[in-house]
Amino acid sequence: MTTTLPAYDEVVARYEPVIGLETHVELGTNTKMFCGCPTDFGGEPNTRVCPVCLGLPGSLPVANRAAIEATIRIGLALNCSIAQWCRFARKNYFYPDMPKDFQISQYDEPLCSDGYLDVEVDGELVRIGIERVHLEEDTGKTLHVGGATGRIHGATESLVDYNRAGIPLVEIVTKPVPGTGALAPEVAKAYVTELRDVLRSLGVSDVRMEEGSLRCDVNTSLNLPGQEWGTRTETKNVNSLRSVERAVRSEILRQASVLDAGGRITQETRHFHEDTGDTTPGRSKETATDYRYFPEPDLVPLAPDTAWVAELKAALPELPRLHRRRLQEQWGLSDLDMQSVLNAGAVELIEATVAAGTTPAAARKWWLGELSRRANETGTELADIGATPAQVAELQGLVDAGKLNDKLARTVLEGVVAGEGSPTEIMTNRGLEVVSDTGALTAAVDEAIAANPGIADKIRSGKVAAAGALVGAVMKATRGQADAKTVRDLVLERLGVQG
Ligand SMILES: [Zn+2]
Repeated sequence: MTTTLPAYDEVVARYEPVIGLETHVELGTNTKMFCGCPTDFGGEPNTRVCPVCLGLPGSLPVANRAAIEATIRIGLALNCSIAQWCRFARKNYFYPDMPKDFQISQYDEPLCSDGYLDVEVDGELVRIGIERVHLEEDTGKTLHVGGATGRIHGATESLVDYNRAGIPLVEIVTKPVPGTGALAPEVAKAYVTELRDVLRSLGVSDVRMEEGSLRCDVNTSLNLPGQEWGTRTETKNVNSLRSVERAVRSEILRQASVLDAGGRITQETRHFHEDTGDTTPGRSKETATDYRYFPEPDLVPLAPDTAWVAELKAALPELPRLHRRRLQEQWGLSDLDMQSVLNAGAVELIEATVAAGTTPAAARKWWLGELSRRANETGTELADIGATPAQVAELQGLVDAGKLNDKLARTVLEGVVAGEGSPTEIMTNRGLEVVSDTGALTAAVDEAIAANPGIADKIRSGKVAAAGALVGAVMKATRGQADAKTVRDLVLERLGVQG
């Protein structure tokens, strides 16, 4: 079924989107949620398993304290209430990569509930309500082999790897977010970005969307102004920040075209396709009753000690939004300037460069200037450009010491990016140091005077501004390696004029 999609601006002028996000985060604990198996990514299939995470008869789970602690810290960072008493629940369903045929999760008694996360979109603060943060275990992974695409279609066999089964997984569910209008896709992306930064600052996960340690499902519905919210669809496993935005936009357009044609939206899960940027239907959405949840009988209830929770709260790190605001003040940047630092992904890089002894202005100049330009040209993330904050600080140190001028520093930086070594090594190896030794420069100055007698006469007669032409000639003769101020002083001295 292919229909022509309406224009986005026109759709959001007529319909009001409501979004909601469910994010799964694999915790970076050393061991799994209910057993002692290691959790590192990769590894030969089915080598990080034991009777508990394989669901063998007679095995009993024991909850991982570090995972509970991490979940409470996430809840606190998201301004949630922490349950004084709660239980795990069995979620019953069959999935070939889930060996027990049920998942230990949490149902009506989540560990953390009712919080919020503030995100900034276009300079406006949007408060995203957090419904719940709960703890569960991840499933294994099914590999479809023998086909061209790695999908089940066309595969000759399917293999199951249980290394991931039982890795602690935190699910963070937002409340429905109405009222964002045309900005709904940007708000969704801003939320996942901010959440990722919060999780990173807590150090609870490596939050790599491409490796699946941060996975996002996006709920979208449309309604006419003044009417009830529409039926929502859930777009599964959207695996990059950009895709979060695209998935919401694409689903808004698709639903509008269905509604415009007099159709109804089916409550279902949908799959987002990175290549085409659209979604296709998955399974029709189950409701909670389908899972026959009941309290997990093999685990004792969770009752986090109030003093422990208070201790965790007091030890929370400065959260990203406040941290950014503090940096902006320290660096003396306007909102607009800070925004360009954020857009360039340069906050941490500038921060580290400043920590290595450079002024904020100089650090910003290199990261947003030369290095950002290069990152754009090569389609590289700024952080992967090949220059480190320490190297940038070293480079600026050479400029400050008068050993490099701006032009030479840029040449040295090219060498750094190309992997030729440290700025000092490159400067020395390539002979790029500024020549400020007057003995070596005097000869070049004398040559320039001899070659330009007319200009020399002008300067002698008091037109000091004409010295610029001779300075230029000397700079050219020394391939830009002379110190311009030293050259100017020498020109005036040799012509017997007072600067
Ligand atoms: Zn295990």
